[in-house]
Amino acid sequence: MQQDITIQLKPNEAFSNEIILLHIADIIGKPVKSITGFYPMKKSIDARSRQQIWVNLTVKVFIDEPFVERQLDSIRFLELKKSAKEVIIVGAGPAGIFAALKLIELGIKPIIIERGKDVRARRRDLAMLNKEGVVNPESNYCFGEGGAGTYSDGKLYTRSNKRGNINRILNLFVQFGAEEKILLEAHPHIGTNKLPHIITAMREQIIACGGEVLFDKKVVDFIVQNEIIKGVITQEGDKHFAEAVILATGHSARDIFELLHRKNILIEAKPFALGVRIEHPQSIIDAAQYHIPASLNGTPDRGEFLPPASYSLVEQVQEKGVFSFCMCPGGIIAPAATNPNELVVNGWSPSKRNNPFANSGMVVTVEVADALKSLNYLGNSTNSNPLILLEFQKMIEAKAFAAGGGKLVAPAQRVVDFCTNKQSTTLPDCSYLPGINSVQMKEVLPQFIQSRLQQGIQAFGKRMKGYYTNEAIVVATESRTSSPIRIPRDHETLQHPQIKNLYPCAEGAGYAGGIVSAAMDGEKVAEAIFQKINSALD
Ligand SMILES: Cc1cc2nc3c(=O)[nH]c(=O)nc-3n(C[C@H](O)[C@H](O)[C@H](O)COP(=O)(O)OP(=O)(O)OC[C@H]3O[C@@H](n4cnc5c(N)ncnc54)[C@H](O)[C@@H]3O)c2cc1C
Repeated sequence: MQQDITIQLKPNEAFSNEIILLHIADIIGKPVKSITGFYPMKKSIDARSRQQIWVNLTVKVFIDEPFVERQLDSIRFLELKKSAKEVIIVGAGPAGIFAALKLIELGIKPIIIERGKDVRARRRDLAMLNKEGVVNPESNYCFGEGGAGTYSDGKLYTRSNKRGNINRILNLFVQFGAEEKILLEAHPHIGTNKLPHIITAMREQIIACGGEVLFDKKVVDFIVQNEIIKGVITQEGDKHFAEAVILATGHSARDIFELLHRKNILIEAKPFALGVRIEHPQSIIDAAQYHIPASLNGTPDRGEFLPPASYSLVEQVQEKGVFSFCMCPGGIIAPAATNPNELVVNGWSPSKRNNPFANSGMVVTVEVADALKSLNYLGNSTNSNPLILLEFQKMIEAKAFAAGGGKLVAPAQRVVDFCTNKQSTTLPDCSYLPGINSVQMKEVLPQFIQSRLQQGIQAFGKRMKGYYTNEAIVVATESRTSSPIRIPRDHETLQHPQIKNLYPCAEGAGYAGGIVSAAMDGEKVAEAIFQKINSALD
């Protein structure tokens, strides 16, 4: 007999198979020897009680029958036929890579064209960013193999479970080298140190099946005839032709948005969010979430059985959402700019999340009307310029760069000083490697963002003990939360409404936010192309 059982355990008990067995035996009312084996299916931490933190563990138990190890859903990728139809994918982010794998499954040859370098070569450019404050516009935290998600925390949870099959995406990550535990954890993450190997394995699979992956090739133009896209042109002038083009260039490919606009291909301004990254000593977050005293020496005292704590906060302030975004426990604040003279921050964590800081985006929704006011636009039609939110984003990033003083040194302010409009006379240690400079954030952020962040952070301080403290800092600016542009597409066919065979995809086009939802959208677009090609053959 097999049975799924949920057990509540103390954190240390969850690490002992012997104790888990005893709990199972107790629940099923049978002796331990009748249990031939079990494996975990779901695991989450419940820290709501001040008295005891619980680990909820669901296990599949085999009773009085032979134990069978967990069977992973593994997909066989077959070699493509020489006659396979070809599809161009612009961008090797999660959307592009998962679209390519799906196309192969469907017998279509993907040709990925990526402006950046492969994951290994990309590392050198990240080192230049962190050590010298020098941005390579083609190779950075956003551009290059694996896209923006490669050197990230690799959080793999998404709220968009209606958009596709999350388990399939997680299974594929495991098939290409991620640990199985991502299949059972409530908030799985992979970590910056592990993602590059997984991305490499995916690329090797694509090539082994007959797909192509081209690096250092920036797409600079589209070949369009009679409102049908035929292919793309790279910076070197190479022309590539295919049945369809998937545009999966992410939220930072400003040149692509500008190209579409120049060519009169419809794009729309899309609300996004902007603010700061907030960083606390991890021990403060652990203390608040696990109800344990904060340590004075900075060493987390949550013990060896609990992971570094995270949080997710949201508050309505003056009719706008203020919310935490992409929280990285045990993480590092990263310079995520894609051009010189702009400053963008984001966050990442290694798989062990063992850095002494906890950082998170803390952002406010920005709409067209806000940008119009800030940029002092004269026009009164809100939709007259689809690039307006992009211009707003650029303006704040340039201000942040200038306020930091250059070389990607970031403007920073202690949290209580920020909320009470005081210049910080000193700054605490910070994980951001290019360095920080004490600046009043009002020099960088427009008033409507600054005031809402101030109220939001103070409200969060009432909910989480210790959160509102001058031991924490805000660093500007967190501006690449999602795309400030939507590239429209037909709801059914997923093609651009004006240009046939052009498939806007994932985050840059406004249909995903995060690694998993981008991967799911890549698959969805690949399926739509398969349908289209097949219906043409009928
Ligand atoms: C530091 C950091 C940490 C993050 N942490 C997480 C996390 O923990 N969890 C999570 O879910 N999300 C995280 N994100 C967000 C996540 O990475 C993105 O949501 C996701 O990568 C979007 O996928 P995408 O494929 O749509 O686009 P992208 O990943 O942005 O990929 C687009 C690709 O297109 C390429 N490209 C752009 N223009 C051109 C062109 N003209 N020609 C050819 N190629 C081009 C780019 O080089 C890039 O490789 C993080 C992002 C960053 C920057």
